[in-house]
Amino acid sequence: MSEQRSTFQESAFSESDERRALRRAVSALGRRYGLEYFLAKARSGERTDELWREAGKLGFLGVNLPVEYGGGGAGSYELSIVLEELGAAGCPLLMLVVTPAICGSIIARFGTEQQRRHWLPGFSDGTLRMAFAITEPDAGSNTHRLTTVGRRTPDGWRLNGRKVFISGIEGSDAVMVVGRTEDARTGKLKPALFAVPVDAPGFEYRRIPMEIVSSEHQYQVFLDDVALPADALIGDQDTGLLQLFAGLNPERIMAAAFAVGIGRHALAKAVDYARERTVWQTPIGAHQGIAHPLAQCRIELELARLMMQKAAHLYDRGDDTGAGEAANMAKYAAGEASARAVDQAVHTLGGNGLTQEYGLAALLTASRVGRVAPVSREMILNFVAQHTLALPKSY
Ligand SMILES: Cc1cc2nc3c(=O)[nH]c(=O)nc-3n(C[C@H](O)[C@H](O)[C@H](O)COP(=O)(O)OP(=O)(O)OC[C@H]3O[C@@H](n4cnc5c(N)ncnc54)[C@H](O)[C@@H]3O)c2cc1C
Repeated sequence: MSEQRSTFQESAFSESDERRALRRAVSALGRRYGLEYFLAKARSGERTDELWREAGKLGFLGVNLPVEYGGGGAGSYELSIVLEELGAAGCPLLMLVVTPAICGSIIARFGTEQQRRHWLPGFSDGTLRMAFAITEPDAGSNTHRLTTVGRRTPDGWRLNGRKVFISGIEGSDAVMVVGRTEDARTGKLKPALFAVPVDAPGFEYRRIPMEIVSSEHQYQVFLDDVALPADALIGDQDTGLLQLFAGLNPERIMAAAFAVGIGRHALAKAVDYARERTVWQTPIGAHQGIAHPLAQCRIELELARLMMQKAAHLYDRGDDTGAGEAANMAKYAAGEASARAVDQAVHTLGGNGLTQEYGLAALLTASRVGRVAPVSREMILNFVAQHTLALPKSY
């Protein structure tokens, strides 16, 4: 009986040796760079290219992509390990959510052979980067209101529209733009994804000043009559909606990994500090007013991580529907846990929590990203209310 139980625990709740080895290797890379490097780059307006390239060389960036296109042949679980561990080491690279997770998954599943061969090896080794643009100024959370439209021309496509809050266009070669095209039969507009080179005439972008300390910035995007070749359309015109859904689960799993990583980093710093800092007779960590909130943060991060791993497991097994619910719940839980962990960590350090030397205050805004993007917590609550609980829709 006890033997059976331990076998079950080993297979269901312990990571394999390979996954643990990946975790250790990524963590070692992240710690060689660390939060000081990450913040110094952000504050001096430089990019974190050397870390991205090194992660690519080590095979971490494309760990989820197919082996035949230079990837590691593993899944979103492994990619979430990469982002979580880099974040826990102080280097939360937001573009890992975008290039390998969203764009890589969509192109691997729906791209033409030529698109796969063109993009995936470069995503894997870090030599090509792609941003992802769905959010529009007047559509916000309501993607049914997207107004970016691609119209057919004799040579390909003309794309017009506006996007906002698009991450990481600097340093990207192209942007995967979610637009709409006219259905030849019904005349109705339906989703379609286009790979738009950042130097295409008519494609312009302007940085949005954000209060997030990161080298990966957000941009407004203007697409004015951007002429694209026929093969800029990802996959074919009939699979746009499926493509979009294929990108959403890895996006949410990775948004959870981003949040869990930041939360872990902040919590570890706070715990180290609370063990040492003594202002009365005992270290401050002995006071339950300090210890209990930190223990609570640990529990919440651990729970969020468990749900993230469940979502990744389901997605990698091909259960898109099951993964959808779990990925939404994981993103919600991780966003909340991360924001609370960073807030509590800042508080634990007293005045030092607000200094540049300790770097924790710089994570306050980054830790809130998980509550808003890629989908806000209210929209996840709407999803769970309607799909999981079958409650009526209010909007
Ligand atoms: C740092 C950062 C990076 C980002 N990167 C990208 C990117 O790379 N690519 C990209 O396409 N987008 C990106 N985004 C955009 C992000 O996905 C959006 O900000 C998000 O989807 C919310 O849209 P919105 O900002 O327009 O908010 P709105 O839709 O205007 O919502 C505002 C508030 O109203 C609430 N709300 C809206 N509708 C409802 C409802 N029906 N019920 C209850 N509450 C509701 C929301 O929850 C939110 O709190 C990024 C955003 C940030 C902050």
